Amino acid sequence: MEKDTIVANATPLVASAVSIIRISGKDALKIGKSIFSRKNNIEPRKVYFGKFIDDKGNIIDEGLFIYFKAPNSFTGEDVVEIQTHGSVPVVKQIIKQTIEKGARFAQPGEFTKRAFLNGKIDLTQAEAIAQLIEAKTEKATKAAVNLLEGKLSKQIKKLKEKLMNINMLIEAELNFPEDVEEIDMNIVKENLKEVIDEIKKLISTYKKGKIINEGIKLAIVGRPNVGKSSLFNALVGYERAIVSDIQGTTRDFIEESYQIDGIPIRLIDTAGVRDAKDEIEKIGIEKTKEKIKEADIVLFVFDVSEGFTEEDKKIYEEVKDKNPIIVGNKTDLILDKNQKKCYFKDIIYTSVKSQKGISELEKEILKNLHLTEDSDSEIYINLRHQESLKKALDVLNKIYTNFENYKDFKEILMIDIKEAENYLSEIIGEIATEDILGKIFSSFCIGK
Ligand code: GDP
Ligand code: ZN
Repeated sequence: MEKDTIVANATPLVASAVSIIRISGKDALKIGKSIFSRKNNIEPRKVYFGKFIDDKGNIIDEGLFIYFKAPNSFTGEDVVEIQTHGSVPVVKQIIKQTIEKGARFAQPGEFTKRAFLNGKIDLTQAEAIAQLIEAKTEKATKAAVNLLEGKLSKQIKKLKEKLMNINMLIEAELNFPEDVEEIDMNIVKENLKEVIDEIKKLISTYKKGKIINEGIKLAIVGRPNVGKSSLFNALVGYERAIVSDIQGTTRDFIEESYQIDGIPIRLIDTAGVRDAKDEIEKIGIEKTKEKIKEADIVLFVFDVSEGFTEEDKKIYEEVKDKNPIIVGNKTDLILDKNQKKCYFKDIIYTSVKSQKGISELEKEILKNLHLTEDSDSEIYINLRHQESLKKALDVLNKIYTNFENYKDFKEILMIDIKEAENYLSEIIGEIATEDILGKIFSSFCIGK
């Protein structure tokens, strides 16, 4: 494959201690050497210290030069990595020099795309790199590393193999009816069922993966003065929402990102769903309803010292479809234990004022996410994987439910099984259109 040589900064263009510039392609060494003080005896995987020089002979900076010889590099091509001082003009000048010597500035994700096209990584691993770079929590990092290690690819390949084996047996029987024993169609059906179940299991990981990578939206809802803003602050850990004795202080939504146990949480303090008299409040209420709809989990807060009032009931009606976590706040104000009446089966009791029940509430929130204990070792699929898996599942389900009809049409059975197999190939990128590749790699940042 005839390819040009690309260059880009691998580190962001900001003043820093060190910047890295990467050159990849068949002329990487030639171009790299043309701006470096050392011209000869550059061996792969050795670090050389020298000066970077422009076309007029001026020194741009001094720094390190490393050469990776194809195919033993990230991209699988000849690669030169240059480390300079982390100065924006220095990096720009060096890139400009390499472009004058024949390199082209890389498109987003082009290094990783080349690594994929040269067989260094498969498509799920390429996606894992982007995922790892963007990971916001340790949990998300672990999930990305599992992908990067090829754990999903391995599973997909196993499933593909199963389907391929079925087709091989059928083909042998069709081609050599005299020599090959007729295959037991029950076993074929069993094998299909196994693949179907495995695919279903993989599909079920999507939701959890989304939670781990993107987090959840958590909305606090309740009538004024029950302690929503106080709870918000207690959860986030510092005074952000305005806590006030005057009803209806929280007009606009206050949102804050934080984490519970490595799960990114977008916490939203709502204005409360109540009858509005003036226009501004009405807008607030419309927005509140929107926020509630968008929320993954709703915390419905009421004041236990006042009991479950008519107004609480009205608001509860608005959110009950979301199966909210019920928070009974201000337990410190109850003198008589009997006041904790059972309005609901499950209530988390809190006293934000005396910092009680907050960790129980956090546990309840996590419980609602249905994450398993060993989620660190699990594989999570992304939306693209899910789409391909669903297509494969549809085809296999069709075969499975109409299995009797296929018995006399084994050629068609083979074609349909092959179709399912192709959808699995899409996931690891064995079948990949420019379209799919474009979509994946264009979402990368420059230099990756
Ligand atoms: P919001 O309108 O629902 O956001 O309620 P705020 O958080 O602004 O709280 C209203 C009032 O209740 C404030 O004076 C808080 O200090 C008080 N408050 C909040 N939580 C508790 C609690 O657990 N116990 C007591 N005694 N007061 C609380
Ligand atoms: Zn408030």
